[in-house]
Amino acid sequence: MDAADMGDDLERILLPAERLGARLDEIAAQVDADYAGRDLLLVGVLKGAVMVMADLARRLSLPIEMDWMAVSSYGAGTTSSGVVRILKDLDTDLSGRHVLIVEDIVDSGLTLSWLLANLRSRGPASVEIMTMLRKPEAAKVEVDVRYVGFEIPTEFVVGYGLDYAEKYRNLPFVGTLASHVYAE
Ligand code: 5GP
Repeated sequence: MDAADMGDDLERILLPAERLGARLDEIAAQVDADYAGRDLLLVGVLKGAVMVMADLARRLSLPIEMDWMAVSSYGAGTTSSGVVRILKDLDTDLSGRHVLIVEDIVDSGLTLSWLLANLRSRGPASVEIMTMLRKPEAAKVEVDVRYVGFEIPTEFVVGYGLDYAEKYRNLPFVGTLASHVYAE
């Protein structure tokens, strides 16, 4: 799926595929350098992080393992409350492991701070976070994110793994939707 397939549903492209790829090249080089000689486990947060996980992983020269978690965040309407339930847990024992959580977006930070505490309680050697997108204005809790792809404005975005009602995850870019899409 690309912009041309969206008719008038697309408002604007914030980050084209080329910029996402170029930034991931830089982040992968940093991760390779930071974790040289260590055994790295990438933990992707389903479903949004699927694209960034795949694109980051194939850029790394280091041998890595990948595992996945699915969590649901409860809140009133579209806002995150910080109350999180595990829908799918990791298959991997984290004790002594170097863990890098791979996220699509950090908005309030509530989901991620819960996840961080949860994974830290499992005895890993280290836990760091990589997120493709961050909305700094929306941050309710300070979460120490080691690798950030792009800071974006406080707008609802779709594409590159991110959905609206489960759609648009397969767009190669990050963009915003026209208002009539939400009204339908
Ligand atoms: P937080 O706990 O940081 O507020 O929630 C983060 C989660 O909310 C993300 O993993 C994502 O699922 C969802 N989210 C936050 N902002 C956006 C956005 O702009 N677009 C989409 N599609 N999901 C978002």
